[in-house]
Amino acid sequence: MTPPSPTGRRVGQVKEVTSLANPAVKDIRALSMKKHRDQQGAFLAEGLKLVIDALDLGWRLDTLLFSRSALGNALVEKTAARVVAAGGLVLEVNDKVMAAISRRDNPQAVAGVFAQRWMPLAEIAPAGDDVWVALDRVRDPGNLGTIIRTVDAVGARGVILVGECTDPFATETVRATMGSIFAVPVARASADAFLAWRAGFSGLVAGTHLEGAVDYRSLDYAGRPVVLVMGNEQQGLPDSLASACDRLLRIPQAGRADSLNLAVATGVMLYEIRRSALALDGPS
Ligand code: SAM
Repeated sequence: MTPPSPTGRRVGQVKEVTSLANPAVKDIRALSMKKHRDQQGAFLAEGLKLVIDALDLGWRLDTLLFSRSALGNALVEKTAARVVAAGGLVLEVNDKVMAAISRRDNPQAVAGVFAQRWMPLAEIAPAGDDVWVALDRVRDPGNLGTIIRTVDAVGARGVILVGECTDPFATETVRATMGSIFAVPVARASADAFLAWRAGFSGLVAGTHLEGAVDYRSLDYAGRPVVLVMGNEQQGLPDSLASACDRLLRIPQAGRADSLNLAVATGVMLYEIRRSALALDGPS
C-alpha cells in the first residue's frame, strides 16, 4: 500500500493534469496561503536542482509537478520515477497550470510539494563551535530566506524563530533560500520559551543592537557555541531579549543610514563569528 500524503490524496502514480479545477492542483495552489500550508503541513519548492537536492537530503516529497516542456529531459524523468517509486504523486501539467501554481509568467519546469519540517527547540543543544541564529519577530520573507541561505553558507547550525515571525515555508521565502531551506534546521518558539531555553545554555549569547556598546569585531567567538540574536526590522530587540544577551554588539556605520538591513547585518555578524572556521579551500 502506498503511504498517505499530507493532503490525504492517493499517491504513487503519474497523472496528466490540464485543468485548474483539478482537486490536486487546487490544493497545491492553496499552498500560497499560510493557513493552507499549516493545514496541509506542506510547502512548494521550485526548480529541478532544488527538488533533487531535497530528495538527496531525505525530504519527503508528496507531489512532483513538471511541465510538458520538460518531457524527454532524462533527469526530470529519472526524478519522476524516483518519486513514484517512493510512493509520491507525479503530475504532468501544462504551462497554464504551472504558471497558476507558481504565480509567475515564466515558471520553473519542475516543482515539488514537500512535507514541512520543524526542529523542536528542546532538541537544540549547541556545543563545540556551533552557531545558531535567533531571529526576533522577523517579518520580511526575503530577509528570512536570505538569512537561511547565509546560515547555510557559513556552516552555522540553524535558525530559531522567536515570537510571531514570517513563515519560512512561504514560497517567497523558499525562493530566497535558493535551496538552503532543505539544509538548515528551523525551530520556532515564543519569546518566553526562548528565554527559558536560553537559561539552560552556557555558551555566548551575542545580541545585536543599535545602542550596543561593544564593537562586534572585538570579541573572540572561536571555540565556544554562539547564539546570535537579531532584532525585528522595525523595532529592534525588545528589552526582555536584549537583557538576556551576554553582550550587545554594534556594527559601526558611517554615512546617513540609521541601521543596516537585517539580513545584511546578520551576514556581517555570521562572517565575523565564523571567521576562523572558514577558508577558501573549505572549512578547516
Ligand atoms: N529601528 C530599528 C532599531 O531601532 O533597532 C532598526 C532595526 S534593524 C533594521 C534590524 C536589526 O538588524 C537590529 O535589531 C539589529 O539586530 C540588526 N542591526 C542592523 N544594523 C545594526 C548595527 N549597525 N549594529 C548592530 N546591529 C544592527
